[in-house]
Amino acid sequence: MNKYDVIVIGGGPSGYTSAIYLGRAALSVLVLAGAQPGGQLVFTSEVENFPGFTKGIMGPDLMMAMEAQAKRFGVEVLYKEVSKVDLLKETKSVWVDETEYQANAIIVSTGATSKMIGIGEEAYVGRGVSTCAVCDAAFFKGKKTFVVGGGDAAMEDTMALLKFADEVTIVHRRDEFRASKIMQDRVLSNSKVKVMWNSEVVGVSGESKLSSIKVKDIKTGKISEQQLDGLFVAIGHVPTTKMFEGILELDEKGYLRTTMTALMRDVKWRVSEKDMWLDGFPTMTSVDGVFGCGDVVDYRYRQAITAAGMGCQAALDAEKYLTEHK
Ligand SMILES: Cc1cc2nc3c(=O)[nH]c(=O)nc-3n(C[C@H](O)[C@H](O)[C@H](O)COP(=O)(O)OP(=O)(O)OC[C@H]3O[C@@H](n4cnc5c(N)ncnc54)[C@H](O)[C@@H]3O)c2cc1C
Repeated sequence: MNKYDVIVIGGGPSGYTSAIYLGRAALSVLVLAGAQPGGQLVFTSEVENFPGFTKGIMGPDLMMAMEAQAKRFGVEVLYKEVSKVDLLKETKSVWVDETEYQANAIIVSTGATSKMIGIGEEAYVGRGVSTCAVCDAAFFKGKKTFVVGGGDAAMEDTMALLKFADEVTIVHRRDEFRASKIMQDRVLSNSKVKVMWNSEVVGVSGESKLSSIKVKDIKTGKISEQQLDGLFVAIGHVPTTKMFEGILELDEKGYLRTTMTALMRDVKWRVSEKDMWLDGFPTMTSVDGVFGCGDVVDYRYRQAITAAGMGCQAALDAEKYLTEHK
């Protein structure tokens, strides 16, 4: 039987950071990194806001370094997808196809994926298409950009872009935004912002980089071609939690609930806020010995550094849990 102190499900910044801490604490650790080892950052080119890299670092290089750092402390890494879990017993089991792996604690760091329009724009991610304006707006200084969406995320992306881009056009399917009034007012009062109401992006093209999009007016059916430098898709995220449905408590959008996020949102939980800080486990999920970190928990910040920070918290909580349950 393959048995470890801790199994980390997910090989992104949160998973590898937790593995580094656990490996250094001399625990036996297996990372099951899934179909996308390195996580979301492998899809981006330059990362300029991860501390410690004065000239920036390529996303895949950062993730390979995190993996190597975890392996230095004896962590085992398999690029395999977990297909089934049994987390309710004291000894937890996860399966990769028919192979069972066991551990005394589990860290879930399966991340999230950005919703895409589905018109081939995925092929241009990192080459003119972005799903994260906080991450990429600075690359569009003096440029012409488009944002797709009408919720708070689209307004936030627009605000981030307005610091750099010369022009931001929002393409929205309806004739009004879903975003809060205050966000809308901020965006719409800026003279650099244009809105294409009742419209959707139906095509993308470009050679090495995205250079134009096709926008359809839903009411008239007319399609126009728009030249641009950047397209920001802000139509939401889906946390990777399907496998945990009915096993771990999820919030209304499918994000994994931990003690900290539940109490922050005033959800009735097993411990009080005071107990959580005094001797509890802020990153523990609804099941004892199962911890959550990174974008699978975080519906707000969604950054590599916040995911890594939460990975550290989950590792320290898991270590404390194992010491108490020896
Ligand atoms: C294009 C792009 C650019 C970005 N740029 C920046 C930036 O410049 N700066 C910044 O701070 N942030 C950036 N981000 C955001 C950042 O990448 C995320 O916040 C961060 O990767 C979240 O880390 P995570 O570990 O929580 O999850 P993820 O990175 O999403 O990793 C999830 C991991 O879980 C694994 N997994 C999922 N399901 C299973 C399963 N069943 N079994 C095993 N493994 C599984 C996946 O294979 C993957 O390894 C960017 C995101 C994108 C998409």
